[in-house]
Amino acid sequence: MFNNKKFDGNKLKYGIYYAIAVAVILFVVNSYVMNLKTEHIKYSDFMTYVSQNKVEEVQISKDRIIITPKLKEGEKSKILYTERIDDPDLIKKLEEAKVKNGIKYSGSPLENNPIKNFILNWILPIIIFMFIGRILFGRLDKKMGSGVMSFGKNTAKIYAENETGITFNDVAGQEEAKESLVEIVDFLHNPQKYTDIGARLPKGALLVGPPGTGKTLIAKAVAGEANVPFFSISGSAFVEMFVGMGASRVRDLFEQAQQKAPCIIFIDEIDAIGKSREGNIAGNDEREQTLNQLLAEMDGFDSSKGVVILAATNRPEVLDKALLRPGRFDRRVIVDRPDLKGREDILKVHSKGVKISSTADLSAIAKGTPGAVGADLANIINEAALRAVKNNRKEVVQEDLEEAVEVIIAGKEKKDRILSDAEKRSVAFHEVGHALVAALLKHTDPVHKITIVPRTMGALGYTMQLPAEEKYLITKEEMMDQICVMLGGRAAEETEFNTISTGASNDIERATQTARSMVTVYGMTERFDMMGLESIQNRYLDGRPVLNCSAETAAIIDEETLKIIKTSHEKVKNLLRDNMNLLREISEKLLEKETLMGDEFIAMVKGNGASKEYLSKEQE
Ligand code: ADP
Ligand code: MG
Ligand code: ZN
Repeated sequence: MFNNKKFDGNKLKYGIYYAIAVAVILFVVNSYVMNLKTEHIKYSDFMTYVSQNKVEEVQISKDRIIITPKLKEGEKSKILYTERIDDPDLIKKLEEAKVKNGIKYSGSPLENNPIKNFILNWILPIIIFMFIGRILFGRLDKKMGSGVMSFGKNTAKIYAENETGITFNDVAGQEEAKESLVEIVDFLHNPQKYTDIGARLPKGALLVGPPGTGKTLIAKAVAGEANVPFFSISGSAFVEMFVGMGASRVRDLFEQAQQKAPCIIFIDEIDAIGKSREGNIAGNDEREQTLNQLLAEMDGFDSSKGVVILAATNRPEVLDKALLRPGRFDRRVIVDRPDLKGREDILKVHSKGVKISSTADLSAIAKGTPGAVGADLANIINEAALRAVKNNRKEVVQEDLEEAVEVIIAGKEKKDRILSDAEKRSVAFHEVGHALVAALLKHTDPVHKITIVPRTMGALGYTMQLPAEEKYLITKEEMMDQICVMLGGRAAEETEFNTISTGASNDIERATQTARSMVTVYGMTERFDMMGLESIQNRYLDGRPVLNCSAETAAIIDEETLKIIKTSHEKVKNLLRDNMNLLREISEKLLEKETLMGDEFIAMVKGNGASKEYLSKEQE
């Protein structure tokens, strides 16, 4: 990666202008002061002054004598000087005058050293001026929007890479995204083919998806596949800049890119500049100017030369509509979280350069990481490799990978975190409560692991369930049972200790959310049938749902949600009461071992006579 020099050129140019201006001012001021205050007199006059008692003080240097005359009333102070001539009697005469009239004399080293002089008279003031100028003009620059004095903070760097060296092979699990970008690659290879037939060419594409899914990677891969230079800049860097700078950066970016066409311009985090201007009266001048410049550049440039603009965002809904108009970012490429196969492929890509044992099972790791994005998976492989080194192994084994999953997904293991025995007991019963409900109900995922080893990321313990296969649809029965599993932790505490703790807060939040969306989003209640009551505005980040119904209806929604939770809670409490022995037996085992794997757990459940199969037969 190199930083293009051209973009520092302006700064240098203005810097030189500034230095020249300062030098001229200093020269004028300096000579003015000199002329005003120091007067040349003849050596003979100096001698006369001394004998006439008109001198206060004398400073003798190598080639000058500086005289401070005695002042009459109302006279302004001044300095006289004369050349020092070879006068062997000078000191004698001054000594006489000192005794007689009390004049002071001394040798001054000041005038002796031309280098020191130069530094004191010129360099030092220039430095001080520059310093003051920096502060002053830095402010001015901000206020007046002039780009002339570019001494201020300037963070938006344009990165240029002649070859990214990244191809589509480096991007795994994003087949659809790659497919929709193949055309752009082809266009960059051979713009002629498209212009000949008169096709309107895509100017830009917007890569949309959650953080870490590989948007930046894909943009680089497009450049790599097409074998063209890659110019990139990050939207967030503009936010801190002075007014006007962002716009000029955008201009620079397009100017430079067009000289190197065909090429790719990549604007990362475009939402930082491309935020909607509506409903934002106070506004951010800088962002608006930058956005306007970007729009102008996108409209202005001739895409037949082969410049394609890619941008990335994880918040498409906040973007200004103007950016999405035809002829701008009129294509959207969704870069979503990878599915099971995608995750396995990503793990494979990242384990290429890593020595991995032939017994390691990447597909099991992929299975255990639903929801993980490419960046997480890349981290997992690296973490596993680090762990292998730490344990003096020559290759990464399955255990390293599994441990890495926990480190990346659930936070580092913290065995030294001290829980009191009572706390530990209640955590154990809580977790076994979750697990047991999962095992005893019909429409649930199998339990993979139960642990009460605390993690740094908050949880004191957790129960991990793994779907037997990747699921895209969830049935009503499954959702109801999921809620029951979430409530199982608290219910176990209640049945065993007859008291409750704060440990269930996260379970409560999740259970409530699930129950609510059954009512408002999925149409799973009799009361509201298939009436949609909520829409989700922010799909990729905060995902805040917005109710679109009357206040009365909202109150009924609360009622319905509560009903689901209450019935589930009752059901779970009964279920656990009926299996009290099992709950105790497994909890004690967990307290002893701290971690139980899925098969150990299931063996205990079955050994006790209860099992999913058994229950499902009973229920039907
Ligand atoms: P985004 O820009 O979407 O936030 P990045 O492209 O910066 O994500 O991804 C960060 C890193 O994660 C990449 O450099 C790469 O190592 C890894 N990564 C992410 N997605 C993928 C993927 N689909 N295939 C391979 N590696 C990926
Ligand atoms: Mg990125
Ligand atoms: Zn819990």
